[in-house]
Amino acid sequence: MLYYIKTQWGDCMSKTVLITGASRGIGNACAREFAKAGYKVAIDYNKSEDMAKALVSELQAQGCDADCFKADISDASQVKALVDWAQQRFGTIDILINNAGISVAGLLTDLSNEQWDELRGVCLDGSIYCSRAVLPQMIRNHSGCIINISSVWGVKGASFEVAYSAVKAGIIGLTLGLSKEVAPSGIRVNCIAPGVIDTDMSRCYDLKALADETPLGRVGQPEEIAKAALFLAEAEFITGQVLGVDGGFGM
Ligand code: NAP
Repeated sequence: MLYYIKTQWGDCMSKTVLITGASRGIGNACAREFAKAGYKVAIDYNKSEDMAKALVSELQAQGCDADCFKADISDASQVKALVDWAQQRFGTIDILINNAGISVAGLLTDLSNEQWDELRGVCLDGSIYCSRAVLPQMIRNHSGCIINISSVWGVKGASFEVAYSAVKAGIIGLTLGLSKEVAPSGIRVNCIAPGVIDTDMSRCYDLKALADETPLGRVGQPEEIAKAALFLAEAEFITGQVLGVDGGFGM
């Protein structure tokens, strides 16, 4: 029994997760969940430096090897710097969570080119840049796991959030294609499609109305997405899947 516990603990103690957009919301909850499970945690942030540093201090105080780095993931050169930093600081990146995101609400006819460029840059280009940057090392190691955060809107589509639906559907395409491309290299790629989750991103909407529309009758918490991410990180025979964590919203 002692041997079993040591083996399990030892396995995850040696692994590093890189989480984009981990200063706030779902990414922040993922950092806490993976730290609790014994992973080393590399935290990417863009604007919320104080929150990222506070999270690092909190996780380090709990005995977790955690650190943070500022990178706007819509910029390929900053992504390269992020991944170089994480590989030097932690040795290897075993798990990448492509979480960072922004949303734009409004009619498609009112969407400006700048809004579209920014939305696509963070939500889609960023996930492509980060995946592309971590893959060479994962391929050399013949091991690795990428978890993409899409949205229920990427599955169902949403009026008033057409552009957001499009980039989140793109994340699903990225997951399906890349999972096939890198499976022979021992790398798994999966996707979570959250429903409405109580974070800064969703608080501009009427959460009560959205809870009423959700079959389970409530919105989700960031920790519930983090638990699903940890499950996918450790589910060694699961790849190419889109896991709805949405209280039934996506049914
Ligand atoms: P959030 O609370 O607004 O947090 C967004 C995170 O993304 C922040 O940590 C932010 O970092 C980071 N970020 C934004 N732009 C970035 C950039 N250019 N480079 C690096 N990091 C950047 O949002 P959330 O609800 O946790 O969303 C996380 C993911 O879940 C997103 O992909 C979102 O689309 C998806 N999602 C959310 C919901 C929901 O209901 N909340 C539902 C479905 C899917 P800084 O503050 O440091 O800039």
